[in-house]
Amino acid sequence: MHIVAIDLHVHTDRSDGVASPREMIRYAEKKHLDGLAITDHDKPLTEEEFEELQQYAQNLVLIPGVEVSSREGHILLLGVHEAPEKHTPIKDVIRFGRKKNAVIIVPHPFDVFRKGIGKVIEKIDFDAIEVYNSGSILPMFNKKAQLYAIKNNLVRVAGSDAHLPEAIGLAFTLIKTKNKELKEIYQSIRSGFVYPVTSNVSYLRILSLKLRRKILKIT
Ligand SMILES: [Zn+2]
Ligand SMILES: [Zn+2]
Repeated sequence: MHIVAIDLHVHTDRSDGVASPREMIRYAEKKHLDGLAITDHDKPLTEEEFEELQQYAQNLVLIPGVEVSSREGHILLLGVHEAPEKHTPIKDVIRFGRKKNAVIIVPHPFDVFRKGIGKVIEKIDFDAIEVYNSGSILPMFNKKAQLYAIKNNLVRVAGSDAHLPEAIGLAFTLIKTKNKELKEIYQSIRSGFVYPVTSNVSYLRILSLKLRRKILKIT
């Protein structure tokens, strides 16, 4: 039995992140993570891209995923190389995810600034809820997700939602798994053998520190 620490929500310059997938992989290693899921907006890694990156990542677990902009808000699908079109109704996104055997996660459900799906969560079928998202500006958004998850006995995960390398691993998920194969990891998430971890640092704080350093260098 292994316990692996994986950041389940990471963006790269393939969508609106600032760094390439390779840079994000290097940072994940630097942060002593065991793996990361690349979940660019509406643009999953193709099989070829994934294979090339997995080779580059060596022992690091790389999870192919996508953050779908459904009509009702964001949904994470892990383990896919395809995605439905933007603004597809959420029920169809879920159907798509189930057909592709994806792990379906509701990210930042109650964050009104990040296109959380809000109350729609009550009406859909999914595998896990993201209770810590390091991109959320107000702690109450994560708190609300955490309370909702506990009340409804849901599988709880965490992700940094990093759009820059320094934010990787600010939140991550510990996963108990038989081995590091993706199938096993997906099964462990579905079975709830997971524990969400947060540093309680919003990545906005990292951004402002970075900006300050930049300004100080100039002046
Ligand atoms: Zn999002
Ligand atoms: Zn995101």
